[in-house]
Amino acid sequence: MKIGKILFATDFSEGSAVALPYAVDMAKQYGAKLYLVHVVYDITKATGWYVPHVAIGEIYDEIEKSARAEIAKMNTDEMRDLKDVEQVVLKGTPYEEIIRFAEENKVDLVVLGTHGRKGIDRVLFGSTAEQILRNAPCPVLSVRLQTGK
Ligand code: AMP
Repeated sequence: MKIGKILFATDFSEGSAVALPYAVDMAKQYGAKLYLVHVVYDITKATGWYVPHVAIGEIYDEIEKSARAEIAKMNTDEMRDLKDVEQVVLKGTPYEEIIRFAEENKVDLVVLGTHGRKGIDRVLFGSTAEQILRNAPCPVLSVRLQTGK
């Protein structure tokens, strides 16, 4: 088994934070490159409305800046030993962009968190994790946030 590139997908939630040590540890064990990836949701795709480009462009610039700052905060002590870590901010629908990035960059493993949402929560919020698990071009490690149940 060759694991040369690992993609860690983060929405900066507690759920993805619990998955991070798995991605870091596996990158260490396999000597793999680690991509820390966040996707800024493209609201124009969700609404289909016309949104003036000037205003929305500035908003996205700010969101992207904040996302980069958040990813930078993830550079923990444990990550210091990794020789190849790349921070990536994408824009679009999270599962689509993560799958596209994994394909284009020939990623060997995707690591993500999962809430294990059920019932109406799942209908309302959908599941990025589920879409990635179903459609990723490579194996996916999903780490479930334990909620005490
Ligand atoms: P969800 O299915 O929405 O509960 O998300 C499950 C996991 O998918 C999160 O813990 C992250 O690992 C990943 N994820 C969700 N949204 C994003 C996003 N916008 N960018 C990157 N990863 C994400």
